Order: sequence, then C-alpha cells, then structure tokens
Amino acid sequence: MVDEDLRIRHDLLGRPVEAGHETSSVDVAIVGGGITGLGAAHALRAGDPTLRITVFEGAPAVGGKLRTIDFAGQRIDTGPDGFVVRGDAVTTLCEQLGLDTDLVSPCGGAPGIVYDGRLRRIPPGIMGGLATRPLSVARSGMLPWHGLLRAALDVVAPSHAPDRDVSVGSLVRRRLGDATADRIVQPLLGGIHCADIDAMSARMCAPQLLAALATGRGLVRGARATKTAGPPPRFLTLRGGMSRLVDGLVAAMPDVRLRTDDAVVGVLPHRHGWEVVGRRTSVHARALIVCAPPRDAAALLDHVRDTVAHNLGCIESTSVGIVLLTYGRNSFDEVPQSSGFIVSPQERTLLTACTWVSAKWPHLGTGEHVIARCSTGRSGDARAAALDDAELIDRVDGELRRLAGIRGGAVQARVVRWTHSMPQFRPGHGRLVEAVRETLPSSIVLAGAGYDGTGIHACIEHGRSAATSVLEQLQEATKMAESA
Ligand SMILES: Cc1cc2nc3c(=O)[nH]c(=O)nc-3n(C[C@H](O)[C@H](O)[C@H](O)COP(=O)(O)OP(=O)(O)OC[C@H]3O[C@@H](n4cnc5c(N)ncnc54)[C@H](O)[C@@H]3O)c2cc1C
Repeated sequence: MVDEDLRIRHDLLGRPVEAGHETSSVDVAIVGGGITGLGAAHALRAGDPTLRITVFEGAPAVGGKLRTIDFAGQRIDTGPDGFVVRGDAVTTLCEQLGLDTDLVSPCGGAPGIVYDGRLRRIPPGIMGGLATRPLSVARSGMLPWHGLLRAALDVVAPSHAPDRDVSVGSLVRRRLGDATADRIVQPLLGGIHCADIDAMSARMCAPQLLAALATGRGLVRGARATKTAGPPPRFLTLRGGMSRLVDGLVAAMPDVRLRTDDAVVGVLPHRHGWEVVGRRTSVHARALIVCAPPRDAAALLDHVRDTVAHNLGCIESTSVGIVLLTYGRNSFDEVPQSSGFIVSPQERTLLTACTWVSAKWPHLGTGEHVIARCSTGRSGDARAAALDDAELIDRVDGELRRLAGIRGGAVQARVVRWTHSMPQFRPGHGRLVEAVRETLPSSIVLAGAGYDGTGIHACIEHGRSAATSVLEQLQEATKMAESA
C-alpha cells in the first residue's frame, strides 16, 4: 500500500496504522480469536472449504479467555476451567478434533457457600440457582427462620412471568424475600456472572426462573415442574487444560490465516464489502464477523454506524483476577475434599470464590501440594484490581487461610488478571443488542459472550450461528451474481 493510502486510513480512523501495511482480499474476516471467533472460522471452513478466511487477533496468541499455564508442576487453567454440557456443541467439536478421550469429569464433593463468616454446605436440590427443597434449606442453616417463612409465601401467591425484562433480584426478592436473594441466589447466580443480581437481566441470566413463574405455581414449585427430565447437565474439562481446545481448532484449519498481534483499529466501507484495517495488515472482506467484546467492537465499528458504537459502549464488563496459590498438604487438618466454595458479597472479602483444583480434578490431584484457584473482582467492587500483585496475593492468601483454617502461608503464588472480562447483562440487554443488530448492515455479524451469553458452550454455538448466517449471505450473493 502506498504511503498516501496509509495516511488516509490513519487520518480517517484517527488510530495508528503501522508502515509497511499490506492489504489482501478474503471472503470473510473475523475480528477476535477467542473461542467464538475460532469456532466461527471452524464452522465456516466446514460449510465451505473454498472460503478464504482471516482471523485478526490483537493479543500475541489466539484463545482469548481460554488460557492454560504451567503452575506447581501442573497445567492449570486461568480462565474457564471447564464447560457445562448443555447440548452436544462442545463434545462434538472435541470429537472432531480428536480430544474426546481426554474429557474429564470433576471428582470433588459439592461446593459450599461462605455466609456470616462461616463455610456452609450448599443444601441439596439447587435448581437453576434456586433451592427447591425447603426442608434441606431449613436444615442447612442458610436462612434465618423469618427468611424461611418469607420464602414459603411463594407457594401461595399466584405467579406469572413479567412482560418486560426485569432484574433477577427483583423477581426473587418479590417471591422469596431478601434472605433467600442475598444468601442463596446472589452467591449462586450472581457469582457466575460476577454480577449484582439486582442489576442482572432475568431474560439473559435466568430464563429458567421466568419459565418457572410462567407455570403460575410460583418460583420453587414452578422450577420443579419445568425441570427437564434426565440428570442435571454435566461439567467437563480437558486433560492438559482448556487451551487444548484452542490448539486443536488451530491445527484443524491450517489454511485459515490467523493474524495475531494485529488488532483491528477500524472498519471502512469498501466496494465489495468492508475494509478491515488491522494495525499491521488489512483485508478487503465480503463479510465480517466481529467476535471482539462489546467495548472493543464499539471502538472498531464507530465508522460503520455511530449509534452502534454508542449502544455497544453501554454494555459494561467487570474486571476479575485469578490468584493461584499452593499449600503443603500438612498445612491442613484435613486436606480439602470438596471442589471449593463461593463467598457471599456481604462478607466484603476480596476472595469471591475458591476452587480446590487438586480436589476437583482427578488428573490434577497427584502433586505434593494443594492448589487453590482463587477468584477476585465482582461488579461494583474494584478493590482487587487496584492492588498490585504482591498485595493481592497477600490479602487473598490471608483470607483463604482464615476461611479454610490453613496453617502457614502459600508456598507458590501467581496472579492472572482479566480486565473488563465479565459482561454485565443489565435488564434490557437483549433489546439493546437487537437494536445494534438492526442498525448494522447484514454483512457485519456480531457474535460472542458479550452479546448473547457467556460460557464455552454458548460461545461455540454463537460462532456457529454467525458462520451459518454468513454462509447463507455469501451463497445468496453468489446466486444473484450468477443470475445477473
Ligand atoms: C476467569 C474466568 C473464568 C471463566 N470460567 C468459565 C467456565 O468455567 N466455564 C465456561 O464455560 N466459561 C467460563 N468463563 C467464560 C468464558 O471464558 C467466556 O464466555 C468465553 O471464553 C468468551 O469467549 P469469546 O470468544 O466470546 O471472547 P474472548 O475470549 O474475550 O475473545 C475475544 C478476543 O477478541 C480479541 N480482540 C478484542 N479486540 C480486538 C481487536 N480490535 N482486534 C482483534 N482482536 C481483538 C481479544 O484479544 C480476545 O482474544 C470464564 C471467564 C473468565 C474470565
């Protein structure tokens, strides 16, 4: 590309573009090489092996939040450490990639909840974040007697699903009272999204509660009535870590061009579609799939439609951090057997959850140390993000030792930070994303955790459906060109 062209792009986008920039033509450009983007590329490849596809990734490696590191002599996940099996999207992909024989189920006992300074067992019968067996809840000591009585009103008050999106907190507080909301639903459902249930969209994060209410029988009886037949969904991981899924996808599509360290700085209209301008290279693409998180997508789509950038900018994400700690087995009176625990926000600790890695996963329990994977950061609490690594380790180590009764400090420690990583789905999120999609030209497809829901399983499905939509559009365009 000549210098003049480079200057024009530089000025137009108002962002730096490196000299020596090359431009090529492809059928589909994908922005973001996380599991959604790689899943989309894989599905496009399967749908039409002749397509020319480029994936732009701003980081030095693809994978996004799927990252496995060496720690304490093991391969430890610092992002997702497994996935819920809801349909067959992930397991089928693992089969296609030859990874199915390395899928592993957890072996640790049920996790607990820390409330009122004490670690308590989660009562049996939890369904979609709700405790559905009143007697078990009563026995667990999770709720005070007035909280139990208040929750019982759910059985007598008639129910119906609200006709607009409301917060999970407002639903649960109205039906079951504040004690259930704060002590059970906040840690269990809010914990998954690092979110405050009073600001969390019921449609996005807890459709099972809406389905329960729609039965007219209240939340608890409705949850039992709408429970799908069969065992609850399984949680699985990959021996060797979740980044093997990323390595498998990359190996399965050698002819897809992966442009790492090449963040897309903007998208400009072009004669045959879009000019996707990366920091180091550009492509002219017939279609574009944007799998970057909303705040990044907002920045790169501001030249396509300004309302898109504004609306995407309204989707916030919370920063979280993982603190890995190891302890000698003799530091415990009893080595942990459960998979871990969640900490209620009312405890005000930096520690929001702990996974006893060596108890949860059979293949990681063989070392001489107990490995704890501690989570920090939640919506409205940025204290952990403000500390440096040494301070954060010190604080989390202290909190964990107090809660779990560990003697002596951690032997090894590592911090991995995930800045603006957990999308916060406020009530009305679905409508906001719908408005963005209605405004975007059909040849730009948005996909990923920040738009339609988080989790590996969901993201693989988002990537697949983005690929299907692009394949249909390209086929349609080819047919029209042939008939013209
Ligand atoms: C600590 C943690 C624990 C989790 N645990 C679980 C779990 O146990 N199970 C589960 O199912 N899910 C879990 N999740 C959620 C899950 O990891 C995510 O929902 C999923 O990985 C998101 O994938 P994605 O591809 O949509 O986004 P990302 O993984 O965020 O990928 C987006 C990619 O886009 C790139 N990018 C951004 N801007 C640009 C640009 N301008 N140009 C080029 N590239 C760009 C980014 O660098 C990134 O690689 C967890 C998440 C975190 C943070």
